[in-house]
Amino acid sequence: MRSAWKTTQAIVRSGRIGGKRALAKYRKNKIPSSDVDPNRVYSERSKVRTHATQAREEPNTCASNDTMQVVQIPSLKDNYIYLIKDEETGTSGIVDPAEAAPVLKYLAHQGEQKVDFILNTHHHHDHVGGNEELKQALSCKIIGAEADKHRIPGIDVTVREGSAFAFGAQEVHVFETPGHTSGHICYWFPASKSLFVGDTLFALGCGRLFEGTAEQMWNSLNKLMRLPRDTMVYCAHEYTQANSRFAIHVDGTNEALLKRKKEIEAKRKNGIATVPFLLGEDMDTNPFLRPFDTNIRVAMGMSKDETDAKVFAAVRKSKDTFAG
Ligand SMILES: [Zn+2]
Repeated sequence: MRSAWKTTQAIVRSGRIGGKRALAKYRKNKIPSSDVDPNRVYSERSKVRTHATQAREEPNTCASNDTMQVVQIPSLKDNYIYLIKDEETGTSGIVDPAEAAPVLKYLAHQGEQKVDFILNTHHHHDHVGGNEELKQALSCKIIGAEADKHRIPGIDVTVREGSAFAFGAQEVHVFETPGHTSGHICYWFPASKSLFVGDTLFALGCGRLFEGTAEQMWNSLNKLMRLPRDTMVYCAHEYTQANSRFAIHVDGTNEALLKRKKEIEAKRKNGIATVPFLLGEDMDTNPFLRPFDTNIRVAMGMSKDETDAKVFAAVRKSKDTFAG
């Protein structure tokens, strides 16, 4: 959207983000993930957590390359908040802050006092719960969907389908992905092939349909499936193990899925996150992305003549009542 683009450009031009000082500060504070001692930050919480979830409780650098650094901060029961940084300029952002406390603790530990943006994918409380406290503490601008501007706390910049804005040296593209909610959006960073999907796509799953139809969600997922297979997908929940049980239920002879399920079980046994994940791997194993597959159609009792959208709807409905 033009106004959103202009607003963001104004922020960029004002020198609030980017520049040599920001870069120097960022380089000074950059600490490899192996040097971070999250136990020190999370000692109070880890005491009351079970062994199985302790490792997931630790913030960790889950991606770091020439373009972007992504730190994953576990929050609430199974949410992930992402702290992102453009490597060239030091421009920083928080994606879907469920709550402020774990983000502020992590930033304090890193000696960081400012973040440039909050990027919200949708209005649910476990994605915007930290907005206002973080905005006040860090002076960040909040970006969210034009369609959700009435229900995203503290929103400053609105975006919509086709919007593009600068995030430091990178460009961010916005997809509207209705289905889970009517105003849900995803953020695509082509330079680093990073995709922030909120509750639209999960590893081996997809979001429940609270405000949209199955057809809308299928169209939304198709927008994401057009991206490169080596896109790294950052979703907002650790639902993968439960999702894998349903995936096997409807697609139990898929070799790639059987292999992935084993890897997921090994990771979860050790409390390791299964997110982010590769889009291509998910397209080969996630039943919600494969309604054209013969085995899945047979499992759903549907013929080869049904549309993909109809089969997708049946898979979604089946998952809603799956007890396994
Ligand atoms: Zn949600």
